Amino acid sequence: VPELPEVEVVRRGLERWVSGRTLSDVEVHHPRAIRRHTPGAQDFRDRLIGTTLSAPARRGKYLWLPADGPTGQGLAIIAHLGMSGQLLVVDPETPPERHLRVRLAFADGGRDLRFIDQRTFGGLFLDDLDAEGLPLQLAHISRDPLDSLFDDERWASAVRAKRTGIKRALLDQTSISGIGNIYADESLWRAKLHGERPTAALTRPVLRGLLQHIRDVLGEALAQGGTSFDSLYVNVNGESGYFDRSLAAYGQEGRPCQRCGAAIRRESFMNRSSFSCPHCQPRPRAAQSS
Ligand SMILES: [Zn+2]
Repeated sequence: VPELPEVEVVRRGLERWVSGRTLSDVEVHHPRAIRRHTPGAQDFRDRLIGTTLSAPARRGKYLWLPADGPTGQGLAIIAHLGMSGQLLVVDPETPPERHLRVRLAFADGGRDLRFIDQRTFGGLFLDDLDAEGLPLQLAHISRDPLDSLFDDERWASAVRAKRTGIKRALLDQTSISGIGNIYADESLWRAKLHGERPTAALTRPVLRGLLQHIRDVLGEALAQGGTSFDSLYVNVNGESGYFDRSLAAYGQEGRPCQRCGAAIRRESFMNRSSFSCPHCQPRPRAAQSS
């Protein structure tokens, strides 16, 4: 699933290519792509045609395009890329892609915005924005660590009050958003923390250090266009990022740790995998016996 850097790369592309443009047509090619828009395809189309898109915003792994129109303001198209969703800007003459789900055409006759999704886990839906410009359905998603209003001390307090492991806490989108398996493993490797370490036992300096590593990892990944562990993660022009070449832990099973040379291990975690260094990131004792 795309995480913060991959979604931010898409957001920046949309800002460049679709901000300020007015929608002239909306084609829904597959109902599953708008399943979260419960009033259906006709309503989706009717409400969007004639609206003008403004600068896209993002919270965690969600991004949205405010769509202000003749009928009023405060509407937004929310995009969730899911496992394989792509938002591409393409010439309107380009034939429909095999997995084209939604096509947005513009009154200026320029490039379309197309939502393409091979596995159809992602989708688009409409929502109203609250007074702060946040879609109502995303109100439960926390600010992300690159947000200037993210409160480090509040996060540290909340995490220390929980009975959970630090990796689960990093994946909890209601307390810190935008981090998934890849950037959790990379940040924990940098912080020399095993993901099963109980959060209640982590000190504030350790948590502050972890946040710094998270910001570094996300910033570096963003600068490299994100991670293309799956060739389906692309920017609006269909290009892949290359942070996968810089990964120190995620997906590196058996390769030497860049710090100590021990072979990176893979452990099962919530039906997926966690990658860590057995030497730099020892398992906590309580977790060893379970
Ligand atoms: Zn190591």
